[in-house]
Amino acid sequence: MKLSPHFTLAEFTRSETAARRGLPNQPGNLHISRMRALCVQILEPVREHFSVPVTVISGYRSQQVNRAVGGSQTSQHMQGEAADVTVWGYGVADVYNWIAFYSGLDYDQIIHEFGSWVHVSFTERRPNRNMALRAYRHNGTTRYARVYEPLDRDDIA
Ligand SMILES: [Zn+2]
Repeated sequence: MKLSPHFTLAEFTRSETAARRGLPNQPGNLHISRMRALCVQILEPVREHFSVPVTVISGYRSQQVNRAVGGSQTSQHMQGEAADVTVWGYGVADVYNWIAFYSGLDYDQIIHEFGSWVHVSFTERRPNRNMALRAYRHNGTTRYARVYEPLDRDDIA
């Protein structure tokens, strides 16, 4: 099933953890409609801007899968509102900076995740927050800091 011209439901529900542990990861119709909105409002414009494929590392997560991967208890991945993505041939900071500061896209949250991928969300349940964050590790836990201007590079602490 296609969610939008360049994204499929299968990309959003594929999970190695779910497969390995036999966990269910099937979204309902409400979640699917939210994933469509994320694709149309955010991911398709990203693909269009960079003109290369966008890889979805993690999209929808059932509660069981989210727990198994150590996701936040309030993760928007469980709502069908978030995706972790990379863009072929581009660094994470390039993708992050464009979405967060130059695109004009009405995203909810964008997170620079350790220089490895960009987490981006979009919601239809309330106004989007346009909140830019970066994740960092502190004493073994993940914390988030607000980002107010474009990041120089990916290897920030
Ligand atoms: Zn994420």
